[in-house]
Amino acid sequence: MEAALKGYFGYSSFRPYQREIIQKVLDGRDCLVVMATGSGKSICYQIPPLVTKKTAVVVSPLLSLMQDQVMSLKQKGVKSEYLGSTQTNSSAFNEAEKGMFDVLYMTPEKAISLPSRFWNNLQAAGICLLAVDEAHCISEWGHDFRMEYKELHLLRGLLVGVPFVALTATATERVRRDISTSLVLCNPHVVVGSFDRHNLFYGVKSCNRSISFINELVKDVSKRSAVGESTIVYCTTIRETEQVHEALVTAGIKSGIYHGKMGSRAREESHRSFIRDEVRVMVATIAFGMGIDKPDVRCIIHYGCPKSLESYYQESGRCGRDALSSVCWLYYQRSDFTKADFYCADAKNGTQRKAIMDSFMAAQKYCLLATCRRRFLLQYFGEELNSDCGNCDNCTAVKNVRDLSKETFLLLSCIKSCGGRWGLNLPIDVLRGSRAKKIVDNNYDKLQMHGRGKDYSPNWWKALGGLLIAHDYLKETVRDTFRFVSVSPKGVKFLSAADKIDGTPLVLQLTAEMIDLEEHGSSQHKEGGGSNLVPTLESEKFSEDESKLYQMLLNVRMELAQDIGTAPYAICGDQTIRNFAKMRPSTGARLSNIDGVNQHFVSRFSGTFIQNITQLSKELNLPLDNSPLPPPPTINPAVENIAGVPKPVQNNLPGILGDAKVTAWELWQKQEFSFLKIAYFRRAVPIKEQTVIAYILDAAREGCELDWSRFCREVGLTPEIASGIRLAIAKVGSRDKLKPIKEELPENVTYDMIKTFLTIEGRGLSEQIFSNAPASSHASEASGNDNPADGVTADACDANPSAKRGQTDGMVGSAEEPAMKLQKIEEHGVESSGTTSATEESVLELVASRDGVLLDDVVKHFNGSKRESVVEILVSLESEFEIYKKNGKFMIM
Ligand SMILES: [Zn+2]
Repeated sequence: MEAALKGYFGYSSFRPYQREIIQKVLDGRDCLVVMATGSGKSICYQIPPLVTKKTAVVVSPLLSLMQDQVMSLKQKGVKSEYLGSTQTNSSAFNEAEKGMFDVLYMTPEKAISLPSRFWNNLQAAGICLLAVDEAHCISEWGHDFRMEYKELHLLRGLLVGVPFVALTATATERVRRDISTSLVLCNPHVVVGSFDRHNLFYGVKSCNRSISFINELVKDVSKRSAVGESTIVYCTTIRETEQVHEALVTAGIKSGIYHGKMGSRAREESHRSFIRDEVRVMVATIAFGMGIDKPDVRCIIHYGCPKSLESYYQESGRCGRDALSSVCWLYYQRSDFTKADFYCADAKNGTQRKAIMDSFMAAQKYCLLATCRRRFLLQYFGEELNSDCGNCDNCTAVKNVRDLSKETFLLLSCIKSCGGRWGLNLPIDVLRGSRAKKIVDNNYDKLQMHGRGKDYSPNWWKALGGLLIAHDYLKETVRDTFRFVSVSPKGVKFLSAADKIDGTPLVLQLTAEMIDLEEHGSSQHKEGGGSNLVPTLESEKFSEDESKLYQMLLNVRMELAQDIGTAPYAICGDQTIRNFAKMRPSTGARLSNIDGVNQHFVSRFSGTFIQNITQLSKELNLPLDNSPLPPPPTINPAVENIAGVPKPVQNNLPGILGDAKVTAWELWQKQEFSFLKIAYFRRAVPIKEQTVIAYILDAAREGCELDWSRFCREVGLTPEIASGIRLAIAKVGSRDKLKPIKEELPENVTYDMIKTFLTIEGRGLSEQIFSNAPASSHASEASGNDNPADGVTADACDANPSAKRGQTDGMVGSAEEPAMKLQKIEEHGVESSGTTSATEESVLELVASRDGVLLDDVVKHFNGSKRESVVEILVSLESEFEIYKKNGKFMIM
């Protein structure tokens, strides 16, 4: 099995589920496979014929799809053909009958009209399975119902003992039952993989179909097209299809068009030029549908609300089938929502009408959603995500409303300290740490707040100043031509209140400019829409020259494909080309080790690629035979890995980390945000800096890479302090409890420093990082503990003690879970077995289980947590639109 996989497909290991399905088929068992697009379903029916040397018959709804697959398989050295009305090879039928093909495709019409003699002959020659692809077409509940599919069960009588394999990417429970019944599957082995496509970014924009909007679309599409990325723009009507297409062509972008009113030849030509990368953009109605087997479409834009969530998921799912990051945008306008009647016109009866209506309403809801889009989509297909995805517009958008009390406090007190004799510029310069003459002369550099506002740009502070003037916290007066800004009575009141109680919230709506300035610093998440629509290869740590090499090799692949009359992706996938550009193999042996390189490729193309790689690398001054690729970026699933399977994909990194932790880590490590800035980032109520630090340390313990020297600098952990901590640990004789260690140390050594130190030791990095500090023998003894600081969280507000730490073995201070439990005891005195701690999950669960719950009841329920912690969690859930308040009670959204 594995040999066939590497030999024909170039992969050294199966994706999840593939192996078990293939095994069941080989055992002769019927299978029902429900897996996301791009998760490698076709391998399940393509491997058995290669193992058994018997034909696999695949029923597939569209000729174009079959043609694509046959073309791809031929490039892999798999004998393959299709039977259908457009087949021009007259001997195909005879050869098929004699079992000369490994994989034989046919439409359902063909399958049920073939004479029984054909099936008898084929069975005598050897048939290992009958696969029904896009099996949801069987169900009237599906969105692509096809009458001929209903009759496929007739083949059962002709093909006794041949296992049937039904495959689909979208199926609700009801559709699944329909498939099983209709095909008369016998005790089928059912596999329902995750629908989640980790590599796809989902976003929605509301729009009016104005010219300026089309221009924006054209701009976005042209950027992708320029770097060789393919985009499909789906329009709801033929008229719009033509409009958008015309706009693209006018802008000089080579693009194809596809809709039902075109002749079949023109449509075929459009299709062909798109899959062969002759045009990078296809503007189409959804008639340009199931026939697309192109794995490297990078962007799907829906121009108009789709008719159902099922079809949206399937259409948008046509991008990123090679598991590389890709984006799905949906543009809607409110008038789209009036089209329900139009869609319902197709309904034959009340039930169908209701089904159509329900699906359309779900699509509408998706458009208007303010919460995680992926979560909603998956929920619709019966799958629960534990946390928000972090890879959709709602997850990544900067929330516009935020508590700005800290920043306001800084600005107001600075203006006050400067005596109100200036405009906004000087106090802002003070906050930003300027040592300009005017500032030094006035001793403003000695002010407490000097340099404390470096996290924001001058323009951001000016915008805040404007906001505070508008809200009457500041007063602006003009004398002559000079503007003076001073603190108003309302501002003075705010300052004195803030002095007394730390953290009086001041929730303000941020201005567009402020948001813009902040996003500028965090462009990583600003996918689509704006200037960052095109993802670069930076995320894979490609140097500029490597990116150039990649583009050049794409051209080599395209020329090769043109020479032999096939699609570039049929030769090999984008990821394989990326691997070439990164590793630059100089010999056939090295090249064949690269994932995605199969036997056929080695024998036919390796010479061409090695020659080009060698020559182009030389021109670019890149060394050959580079070491293997660095680990893939964390947000995306592993390279060439399955896109649609729940846990295994992200095993190494964010899978077991909460989203908040991954985000904190990314902002710190990649965006170089400060702890304080992260504490405020996208939060209506900021979390504590200690929590941010704990999050990042958690990520480090899970294996995320960290710039330790910068981290130590920010925490204030010097080699001297580290050696002090080491001695203290030796003295205490244990690292399970933080408090005794802290007590052994001077006042200025914080819990954060100790936690950082323990994490570094746990990772075995202390020598490397604190090499100046003297090592003590006790310390090395102490570092025998593998798991020193797991779960150390001094912060009661940490709303996210993840489930894996939730064991309650009652053994206080056990090696498994040392400090966290102790910490709790320190906070709450005694931890009895009856206490319940609040986490975002547990609070949500409680709210969901009751029909409205009062704050006091929530606090009472979570008697293991402080009231403030519970309040903080509730506020956070409210700001995330998970819950809302009605008549003083918290309700689930
Ligand atoms: Zn999301």
